[in-house]
Amino acid sequence: MVMLKDIIMEADYLVCCNEKNQIIKDAAVYISNSKIVAVGTKKAIVKDYSATKIIGGKDKILLPGLVNTHSHSVQALLRGRADDLALLDWLRTVVLPGESGFTPDEVYTSSLLGFAEMIRTGTTTANDMLTTHNTERGIQAAIDIGIRARIGKMLMDTNNDSPDIIKEDSETNIESATRQIEKFHGYADNRIKYSLNARFLLSCSPELMKRIAETQKIYPDLMIHSHASESKAECTEVEKTYNMSYIRALKNMGVLGFETILAHGIWLDDEEYKIIKETNTRIAHNPSSNCKLASGICDVLRYQEMGVLVGIGTDGSPCNNNFDMFSDMRLATFLQKVKHLNEKALPARKVLRMATIEGSAALNWEQEIGSIENGKNADLVMVDINNLNALPLYDPVSHLVYSASGKDVSLTMIDGKIVYQDGQFKTLNYETLKKAVIQYQNSWIE
Ligand SMILES: [Zn+2]
Repeated sequence: MVMLKDIIMEADYLVCCNEKNQIIKDAAVYISNSKIVAVGTKKAIVKDYSATKIIGGKDKILLPGLVNTHSHSVQALLRGRADDLALLDWLRTVVLPGESGFTPDEVYTSSLLGFAEMIRTGTTTANDMLTTHNTERGIQAAIDIGIRARIGKMLMDTNNDSPDIIKEDSETNIESATRQIEKFHGYADNRIKYSLNARFLLSCSPELMKRIAETQKIYPDLMIHSHASESKAECTEVEKTYNMSYIRALKNMGVLGFETILAHGIWLDDEEYKIIKETNTRIAHNPSSNCKLASGICDVLRYQEMGVLVGIGTDGSPCNNNFDMFSDMRLATFLQKVKHLNEKALPARKVLRMATIEGSAALNWEQEIGSIENGKNADLVMVDINNLNALPLYDPVSHLVYSASGKDVSLTMIDGKIVYQDGQFKTLNYETLKKAVIQYQNSWIE
């Protein structure tokens, strides 16, 4: 890991994602002790500051690190093994048995692979659900590679279709989550925050949800992260089980609020939208996953018009099949345009905000990350524009959302540390990771 006290990063374009949506040409950022200290034109910064290292910015856009508000790093090893299935089949036939079959080393390899791909493609923060067991190995992967994360064990106690190995009662769930909160919540200068990941209502009993709500209140800045109202079939099963609709059931269990983020939120009635708004619950929109599992199209515009915070997520590898937030930004805007038959829906500037400052706000992290501003943590991404797909370039934000891909990222910095630059990971041995992944892959090839 390259650790530098002072650093100046330059760029042809600096896309700040601050309140004014400022874009600075021929710009530079001065970073000291992991914080952004000054932002301005290159001329002004170089005049006022000197640094141990200067990273040149010719043919580069500098933007805030992307915030993936819903991911499953630990599913990375299942990429390509669960294609063309609907949610409940996908979950029960491949994902649950796959996750539960992982050895401790495979949990580590899978999460490391997921986080490596996120970092390679410009994500600096993940809101990540691990699996039910060997969770500490997944958290260790986040710590080792240097990503910022809200992360935790998958909490579930009632799915009858689950393999025995991942069945735990509510008490065991809460006991092990509490042990992990004590160990990891606030770890590495608050780069790692624990989260209470309730899988979804078909996997979690009312007793477990009640205990999750109680536990969340004990610890400051601890969020609840769950899936909700993703597919029609799932909502029908929830209604049958609870005799009420999904969001009403969650409200009755006391788990909604500003410290709760729900992935998907597609199939809601009018009153349920109001409940989300009134409780200040946050939504993670996962456009690729929703398309691939044929779940439906989340009404992002409706949430935003009501004032609900919506971030963007990739979900897991078996339902995307990548962790590239650029492709999910692009798809997010396209889906809203088609859903509302309105070409102005979710313009590039808005969708980039969702993937940066609004995503960080959805995770209650906007004071520290999500924009390039003085005093914020230096979570930054450089995008190379010396490419055919960046010619011509009239508007850097249009390029980032509509034309660029994660493969154009040339540098990723988290907390002032360069974790990836020009094809090289600084915190990861790619060949060792690849060997472990191929070993797992071969165990599945007959
Ligand atoms: Zn998910």
